[in-house]
Amino acid sequence: MTRASEADRSHHLATLAVHAGQRPDPVAGAVMPPIYQTSTYIQDGLGRPHHGYEYARTRNPTREVWEANLAALEGAAHGFAFASGLAALDTTLKLLSAGDHVVVGNNIYGGSHRQMDQIYGRFGLTFSFVDMRDVTNVERAMTPNTRMLFCETPSNPMMFLVDLRALGDMAQALGVLLVTDNTFATPMLQRPLSFGADIVLHSTTKYLNGHSDMVGGALLTSRDDLAERIAFLQNAAGGVPGPFDCWLALRGVKTLPLRMRAHCDNAMQLARWLDGRKDVTRVYYPGLPEHPQHELAKRQMSAFGGIISLELGSLERARKVAEGTRIFALAESLGGVESLIGHPASMTHASVPKALREEMGLTDSLVRLSVGIEDVADLQADLDAALSS
Ligand SMILES: *Cc1c(COP(=O)(O)O)cnc(C)c1O
Repeated sequence: MTRASEADRSHHLATLAVHAGQRPDPVAGAVMPPIYQTSTYIQDGLGRPHHGYEYARTRNPTREVWEANLAALEGAAHGFAFASGLAALDTTLKLLSAGDHVVVGNNIYGGSHRQMDQIYGRFGLTFSFVDMRDVTNVERAMTPNTRMLFCETPSNPMMFLVDLRALGDMAQALGVLLVTDNTFATPMLQRPLSFGADIVLHSTTKYLNGHSDMVGGALLTSRDDLAERIAFLQNAAGGVPGPFDCWLALRGVKTLPLRMRAHCDNAMQLARWLDGRKDVTRVYYPGLPEHPQHELAKRQMSAFGGIISLELGSLERARKVAEGTRIFALAESLGGVESLIGHPASMTHASVPKALREEMGLTDSLVRLSVGIEDVADLQADLDAALSS
């Protein structure tokens, strides 16, 4: 666990991304944080660790720099890094006890749904998956045992938005925790803690690292009581990242502001162009005025992200397009500098029951684009060729 330094907070996000949590290494003055590739630390005597570090599951200096950087970006007092986004979710759910109930957005990442339903359901937690685009559905799903609301906005892959202010107010009024998965938006576009979320969750695998070369997760909070509990769980359950992955992510995050601008600009341009095509049944992108929650998107996001989903009418056509691009690589994941195309029903969301997929409009003919930072003219030509074939 790392407490982010208060002095950092006066700076803008682009400055924080480069500098927050980092200071020259005391041995050589190295400008980049060293990779502390060690499992243990020497002790001066019994119960007297030399520099306050005892064992690397509990604390590692490279990890602490990464945690402090993330905390600064999300405007949180405390940051915790994990071995994956799902390890971060695992720790989040361990804040609860058997018998507790969680209200969850119905369109969350498939692996998050699987963990809740197939693992924690067996340990006595109960979950209601509801359409959170209408927050009254959340209130209706509450039981006397509800302890947590969990939302993702924009959601994967339907691009549903949740009104963070309304949900934050509701969570506070009802005395339950609000956890927001901010993987799609990143702190560049939206900072959920400022709307009343108690915990922000990230898959740092995606935009935060941004180079598709590590897997990681994070939890950010400003509540000291939650931070103490998360620090306990991080150490006691042990889902921590290694120092090399933290170092890669630290290198990646420095360009987050530049990358997000390019992702958003490219996606906006492609979404407009795709929306005008007769052979695309529907375009899901919150930056389009046609998106049913465009006004909310403008209110709580500073730009609209790099993910676009397309309804193509039939599985055959979805397959053709997904297999027909040359720059957009057919692959799971998102948020890297390179463009990817995916088929959620058979890839990222295959573990979500078909009935639930259909309820939210996640059809077999939907493809998802993670728009990269390549030249947008090349991306458009690539999609044009695949759509026209
Ligand atoms: C990928 C993803 C996760 C899971 O993160 P991993 O790092 O793959 O474990 C959680 N939420 C969202 C929105 C994601 O895209």
